[in-house]
Amino acid sequence: MDELSWERFEAEVARRGGARCWWRDDDAAQPDPALARLLALSSSFRVPLALAVVPLLAAGELFDSLRDNVSVLQHGTDHRNRAAPGEKKTEYPAAEPDAAALERIAAARSRLQQLAGARALPVFVPPWNRIRPSLAGCLSKIGFQGLSCDAGAARVAGVEQVDTHIDIVAWREGRRFIGEDQALALALRHLAGGQPIGWLTHHAVHDEQAWRFLERLLRVKGIRWAGAAELFSYTAARHG
Ligand SMILES: [Zn+2]
Repeated sequence: MDELSWERFEAEVARRGGARCWWRDDDAAQPDPALARLLALSSSFRVPLALAVVPLLAAGELFDSLRDNVSVLQHGTDHRNRAAPGEKKTEYPAAEPDAAALERIAAARSRLQQLAGARALPVFVPPWNRIRPSLAGCLSKIGFQGLSCDAGAARVAGVEQVDTHIDIVAWREGRRFIGEDQALALALRHLAGGQPIGWLTHHAVHDEQAWRFLERLLRVKGIRWAGAAELFSYTAARHG
């Protein structure tokens, strides 16, 4: 049953003459065994990884272990939920003015740049993929050129937006892997869309099934994995 799904997926990739994908992993802060496992996958399959790092929680040593095919994106500031009662989880509650939130984001950005150097791309990834349009619209004022949320997020002016499409974690079902059938069904659906398919992972919560799936995915022939630097400038060129 499972192999059949992979066969169908690989046949569809081949029928289309290949597929473009990209890989974002969120919530990196400290070097730990799960992160090491993630980085080992990226390096052994030579697949570029966009690592969304939480700037104010990041340890300097985190960056020592990163190979050249790892880009660093800014994942919010401290990943603390500031939502008011009744609001969905967010680092940027409606009660906080845009200017104040932007100031926090800029301060976190300078810390991340100091730690990560040239590896840190000017790309913002809001925690819980959630940022209100007025605040997102100000990101270019503090130097961001890119934004990455999840599929279906509103388009934001002034930044290149490259979203993810498939989150492999079922957050409301004990954070288990979403399952091979569901992940591949989503992938088949997005293949038809023609956009690079964004895979979203969270190394800290992966169960063994999630890890196994990821490894199998990275072995699929015909997928071209785009690095974040290429992808964000690629879309910039495409949209003129
Ligand atoms: Zn996060």
